[in-house]
Amino acid sequence: MISKSIKVAVLSSMVLFASCKDDSKKDDKLMTDNILLQEWTGPYEGVPAFDKMNVTAIKEAVEKGMELNLAEVDVIANSTEAPTFENTIVAMESAGKDLNRVFTYYGIMGSNTSSPEFRDVQAELAPKLSDFRSKISQNKKLFQRIKAVYDASQKTPLEPQAQRVVDLTYKGFEMNGANLDAEKKKRYAAINKELSTLYTKFSNNVLHDEENYVTYLSKDQLGGLSEGFIKSAAKIASDKGQEGKYAITNSRSSMDPFLTYSTERGLRKQVWGNYYSRGDNGDAYDNNDIVAAVLKLRKERVGLMGYDNYAQWRLQDRMAKNPENAMNLMLAVWPAAIARVKEEVTDMQTVANELNDNITIEPWDYRYYAEKVRKKKYDLDSDEVKQYLQLDKLTEAMFFTAGELFNFKFTPVEEGSVPVFNEDVKVWEVNDKDSGKHIGLWYLDPFAREGKRSGAWATTYRSAASFEGEMNVLASNNSNFVKPAPGEAVLVSWDDATTFFHEFGHALHFFSANVKYPTLNGGVRDYTEFQSQLLERWLSTDQVINQFLVHYETGEPIPAALVEKIKKASTFNQGFGTTEYLASALIDMKLHLADPTDIDIDKFERETLAEMNMPKELPMRHRTPHFGHVFSGEGYATAYYGYMWADVLTSDASEAFRDAPDGFYDKEVADKLVKYLFAPRNAMDPAEAYRLFRGRDAKIEALMRDRGFPVPQN
Ligand SMILES: [Zn+2]
Repeated sequence: MISKSIKVAVLSSMVLFASCKDDSKKDDKLMTDNILLQEWTGPYEGVPAFDKMNVTAIKEAVEKGMELNLAEVDVIANSTEAPTFENTIVAMESAGKDLNRVFTYYGIMGSNTSSPEFRDVQAELAPKLSDFRSKISQNKKLFQRIKAVYDASQKTPLEPQAQRVVDLTYKGFEMNGANLDAEKKKRYAAINKELSTLYTKFSNNVLHDEENYVTYLSKDQLGGLSEGFIKSAAKIASDKGQEGKYAITNSRSSMDPFLTYSTERGLRKQVWGNYYSRGDNGDAYDNNDIVAAVLKLRKERVGLMGYDNYAQWRLQDRMAKNPENAMNLMLAVWPAAIARVKEEVTDMQTVANELNDNITIEPWDYRYYAEKVRKKKYDLDSDEVKQYLQLDKLTEAMFFTAGELFNFKFTPVEEGSVPVFNEDVKVWEVNDKDSGKHIGLWYLDPFAREGKRSGAWATTYRSAASFEGEMNVLASNNSNFVKPAPGEAVLVSWDDATTFFHEFGHALHFFSANVKYPTLNGGVRDYTEFQSQLLERWLSTDQVINQFLVHYETGEPIPAALVEKIKKASTFNQGFGTTEYLASALIDMKLHLADPTDIDIDKFERETLAEMNMPKELPMRHRTPHFGHVFSGEGYATAYYGYMWADVLTSDASEAFRDAPDGFYDKEVADKLVKYLFAPRNAMDPAEAYRLFRGRDAKIEALMRDRGFPVPQN
């Protein structure tokens, strides 16, 4: 599922470029007794002191941590020795340890235990952290040393992992303009500054339109809406001073259920219009000119470094490698997606006609009639499914899967022996099933609470890297299940169970890592969701179903017919889902491949969609004037395709298991899975790793089958 791909929040974005491990070189006046900067002590090779976290200490700890790190970088950069792999690259890999420890706490305080006080600290530290990163990435002497090591390695290559870390480090600096001459560097910095202002403006405009286009309903306009939805709409209205009314806010979480269930067609049109016009209202908050300006600046910036366009620059270190490969994938799926939309519209029109609704399906009708078709065709009772999905049993099912595929064994650690930041957090020790070798600790923070962000995610507190001796891994999974009364089972939906497996896939990817250097632990955007998506597939294997998906009262396994229904329903509405996603991903790429000189964004979007034969019954998932992934920063610019890229690998790899003698528990395929797809992380080129696993590149046929699309015949 595309939405699953957004859930990981690995702290690797915070991982630092450099620092130095030799403690004797630290400036004495920088030493501190701040508890959050201390080495981790206690069992299991030392564990975070989560019981000692506090907002007062964290600010100082981050600031001191940055100082320490910069001092370490200076030592490396100002060395009088000739640059070598050891004294430059290894020295950088070795360091950042103090700050990385602090970032573990900082991450927990931001995501798991946030508070208004902490958010003040965050706001204060954000610009300082940004300055800090620039100080390292723009350190000229440091880059000269890195370049010297890189140049030497082009003549005399290093062993593969050393070479890869040199390549990635050099590339990272180079892609951020380190190779430019002084004049170009100046322009580069000016462009970045201008862009950052535009990104903020873009986000603020979208936010303005989200806050200022609320639709208020009266009591006689609630047809079709659920009790829970009405209650929350009433609360939002009264919070906004409209007592007695019901507010539909201009956000996806309000718009989506309203369009799915409301019987008021006129209001559906209004809510739909508000949502898809965000940033496009021709007023002071209109984003069209901002988008055009961003595209021009991005093109100019990568032009300084000799690239033809932004996409070419962005994709060079991604699995897709270049925009052509990404476009080819999207265009291969596109015809089937829009053809499926036609069928879905036909099905919906039939239902509308049967109901004598006397309408033609318009975009604001899609979700409403799709829901009616879903009921008619699949008749899946989600409450019935839930009775077979207990959180504890699902946890056992994941451990079983990890045992079969990775040979891992999970044992609960004695309560109180490892500090946790909340009493709900449970910890398990991970060992090799046969040798008993200690691998690490798995922390699970399962329940929703105030101050914890929504969704589900995985992180590491300590990642694998063997260059200074073997280290264990401390990994965590975080969810937002509703905490039950004592002794009661937590029953979850099929979607949530899938997500639970997904996040565990990220944890297994951390635990199985076999890399020498920390940089090689990093994720590749169009690859890093693949491993976790793949692990979702074990939820519906017979072994898991029969042992763990059992009724919470009777202990009976979930009936095969019910599983069949769930699987069948998974291809439902894929025309809509795939088309709205791909339309956005294609426009993202095409905008960045186009000449931005005189670009008219509104016209470009309209004409490009027409050329693509975009069905008129649905819009892009994110229209350009509010496409925050792409224009409120650079995170997903020319990268929105990545969700589908990872999905192709997921479908293709899962067929390798399906077709093996022992299916999803085939030892031979499992060994290859661990060896090539999990253990190397970024120590190996992902495309090469995949070929070693599969004996060939991934093909899109499996994805087409998974989505219920016809498979192209060659
Ligand atoms: Zn994920």
